[in-house]
Amino acid sequence: MPISAYTATSNATSNATSQTTYWQQLPKVLLHEHLDGGLRPQTLLELCQHKQLVIPATKPSELADWMLANANAGSLVRYLDGFALTVAAMASLDACERVAFEAAEDARLDGCVLAEFRMAPLLLEEYNLAGEAVVEALIAGLQRSDLACGLIVCGIKLDPPEKILRAAKLAACYQGQGVIGFDLAGPERGFPPALFADALALARNAGLGVTFHAGEADDGSRVLEAVALGATRIGHGINVMYARSAAQQEEWLNQARAAATHFEVCPTSNVHTGAVASLATHPLHDMIEAGLSVSCSTDNRLMSGVTMSAELQAVHDQNGVSKLQIKRMMQQAAAVSFLPEAARNKALETIAAVDFG
Ligand SMILES: [Zn+2]
Repeated sequence: MPISAYTATSNATSNATSQTTYWQQLPKVLLHEHLDGGLRPQTLLELCQHKQLVIPATKPSELADWMLANANAGSLVRYLDGFALTVAAMASLDACERVAFEAAEDARLDGCVLAEFRMAPLLLEEYNLAGEAVVEALIAGLQRSDLACGLIVCGIKLDPPEKILRAAKLAACYQGQGVIGFDLAGPERGFPPALFADALALARNAGLGVTFHAGEADDGSRVLEAVALGATRIGHGINVMYARSAAQQEEWLNQARAAATHFEVCPTSNVHTGAVASLATHPLHDMIEAGLSVSCSTDNRLMSGVTMSAELQAVHDQNGVSKLQIKRMMQQAAAVSFLPEAARNKALETIAAVDFG
């Protein structure tokens, strides 16, 4: 099928432009997107105003600029500052439902044919919202969209072990009802995968997909530690390309290939947190060439000011990833999605039928 024959449909909720680009028209698979990092600027502004939160802007564009400036400060700490505001803004069930729905619609209108969104529901306990109610609101929002999508529940590495275990149990309760996976997010250094072995085992035994943020701020060996504990996918994982010796590098790559570990790489986000210097020097292309299973996601559309289509265009233009390699990435992403087999196969068929050029 030529690319022009594949067109994402639009509706009144669209904030996309009427003229779709080549990159928007490509059928895409989004595996790594945080709901609390992907609010529409207009929605964030309205939610903040409704809650009378003190915010650094009065217009959506100013709010988006503030988020991007924080994200682009080259510091994970500054990058995470924006989340304090978005989480406060999302502290109602209506807001959770709305944000989830809009994220799914934005992805659909950007040409995604399958998407996974994630959030740590227990972040909202601080606002007296029960984890169960938050999960149900997020699922309701996602299911209101026509996009094939599901929810990954995150635990936060900074939280006490009992809370992380509760997050895993919460995910397990909704397995098959909209929750498709479990993830651990948050700071890496000082929080090796072994600390979370119980939660990872619980999620895995419940039949959930398991992914884990590793190898972005900390050593590449963390990737393989998380894999040994049952993670089949790794958030970022880029430091697996920076071993201390050629022998270690070969060993790491061999292990990752043997385990068919999938890397959910988010290049612009990696630049913004200071993990890599630029898109031009990002290891994404090298990961593909090394035969790893890799895809490309947005991480936090609001904080990083990106979309899936813009991200793919950027790695093509600045990182040397060919259009054929982009197609292969989308196929690998569809194949390893935590969504049911029928949804995976439908996405794979759609991607296979399109000539990426
Ligand atoms: Zn992430």
